[in-house]
Amino acid sequence: MKHEKIDVVEVCKELEDLLAPRLKISVLDRAVYSHLLRHSRFEGKLRLRFSILWLAHNLGITARRARESVRRLVDQEVLRLVERSNVGHLVEVRLPGEVPAARATGNRARLQGEVNLDELDFMRTPALRRSIHAREHGVCFYCLRRTPRRAHCLDHVVPLAQPGSNSFRNLVSCCLNCNPRKAVISHRLAEEE
Ligand SMILES: [Zn+2]
Repeated sequence: MKHEKIDVVEVCKELEDLLAPRLKISVLDRAVYSHLLRHSRFEGKLRLRFSILWLAHNLGITARRARESVRRLVDQEVLRLVERSNVGHLVEVRLPGEVPAARATGNRARLQGEVNLDELDFMRTPALRRSIHAREHGVCFYCLRRTPRRAHCLDHVVPLAQPGSNSFRNLVSCCLNCNPRKAVISHRLAEEE
């Protein structure tokens, strides 16, 4: 196995920001995982052989909790169980970015990044429409007043009647008072519910 240089800070960030929230990893399991990482990948080793008692002792937890935690981490594919005997466990410790569930989201994010935003019809789905409101941070584009969720709408800067489009560049979030075409709005609001 090749010796890779591990960026420990990056790994810790990925654990906190990506893996833990995504897999809903508990504080205990995080501590167990961090400890195993520290004795494997952070030392340049892919695999680690350890006993549950060693793990429990180092973390100040009972053997039962340590065993259950290792089992959960194996179930979530954070650890790959290579071998288990009465001597202990032999596991492959994955970096946060190598865990299949975490990787899946990364790939999706990359795919979305490749979509040409300029060609995307932002009126097409509620999620896309919401992203325009989110961009304006819930504030009307024209009067800058805070607009509650039920009282905002999308306005085409260049009206569709002229050569406008549903591109994110041509759409703004605004309050009902500022939108000159209220009939269209109420229709859209109903659509978004
Ligand atoms: Zn307004």
